[in-house]
Amino acid sequence: MLKNNPFKGKHHSPEALEKNRLAHLGKKHSEETKKKMRLSAKRGKLNHKWEGDKVGVLALHSWVQRCRGNPTICVDCGTTTKKLAWSNVNHKYRRALDDFVGRCHSCHSIYDRKYNGYGGGKKGLIVKGKSLKEWSKILGCTLVYLRIYKHRHKIGYEEIINKLLIKKGIQK
Ligand SMILES: [Zn+2]
Repeated sequence: MLKNNPFKGKHHSPEALEKNRLAHLGKKHSEETKKKMRLSAKRGKLNHKWEGDKVGVLALHSWVQRCRGNPTICVDCGTTTKKLAWSNVNHKYRRALDDFVGRCHSCHSIYDRKYNGYGGGKKGLIVKGKSLKEWSKILGCTLVYLRIYKHRHKIGYEEIINKLLIKKGIQK
């Protein structure tokens, strides 16, 4: 697999990742195909569709779970008794097992918030150079909607905004 891929061993820049991801998002799968993809994802088949950055974040997390089992310790606070989940180290979501470490729920949200550029309360969250409030105006939705969206889909705000920009036809 990927023998002649010029990207082998290299890292994509965030811009390239984003471009790749957006290109991928633009392709619509039929419901039937999506169903098949979900099923095959559940079985953990490592077919070519699973390569690199095309892997959905959620699928990637469950893949890590299957391969590494449940995390046993939170890397931040050291707890072994709280509910633990795999946390992506650099949020580039490569399909690499060592990109994931165990974190408890509270440390996980702190870590992800930090990654998302949380300004410490006063400035609020800055995503793609704009505050969430600005984004909600651009997208014509409420802040609460963005929060619920994040909670439901368990993805970062940047990804949510990209999705919504496409969904609302603001950005192709
Ligand atoms: Zn913790």
